[in-house]
Amino acid sequence: MERIKKLLDGNKKWAAEIKESDPRFFEKLSEVQTPEFLWIGCADSRITPASSFGLLPGEMFVHRNVANLVLHTDINCLSVIQFAVEVLKVRHIIVCGHYGCGGVKAALDNARYGLIDNWLRNIQDVARKHRSELDSLPGYEAKLSRLCELNVIEQVTNVGLTTIVQDAWQRDQALSVHGWIYTIADGIYQDLNVTISSNEELDKLRSAANAGEPLAAVR
Ligand code: ZN
Repeated sequence: MERIKKLLDGNKKWAAEIKESDPRFFEKLSEVQTPEFLWIGCADSRITPASSFGLLPGEMFVHRNVANLVLHTDINCLSVIQFAVEVLKVRHIIVCGHYGCGGVKAALDNARYGLIDNWLRNIQDVARKHRSELDSLPGYEAKLSRLCELNVIEQVTNVGLTTIVQDAWQRDQALSVHGWIYTIADGIYQDLNVTISSNEELDKLRSAANAGEPLAAVR
């Protein structure tokens, strides 16, 4: 219980510090949120999206799940995207993975953890799709890192294929989907250079992925 109480004490201290530099900060924040970014990332506790970009509360809409998946049957994730795009009118959706992701590793290892194995099956589908590239890589770490990247790229295409993004592009709403990857060991994000802002760019990315062509790799 002591640890739980410390959370609430820490919160009071945090709010007081912010109020000291800007007495109306929370008051202004409570009136409206107008974030420019939607961040879809892994639930890993070592990643702190908004603050690691130096953003303030209110500047980034966030959705997280294990291994940053965007599935067409996930009403939770789809609702977040729909609200962000159609109501908040975000300009950028960032799908962000990270090297050494436990979810990606479990999928690669075919590990058994229970219910979550069904969720991680989707990453095994990504691995199967890119089997020849993964098999060509030397060593386990290289395969794991590349699968972390490929998983992000596949999720970028999944975001682009949602009816929400399709409808936004149809009505010429400016909206870009980006794929980034984070290195926990140095706190740095890297752009995988798979940004799509139109159906033409989505098609190009998808055909490269489907043909098993080498996709952007940052390592
Ligand atoms: Zn992860």
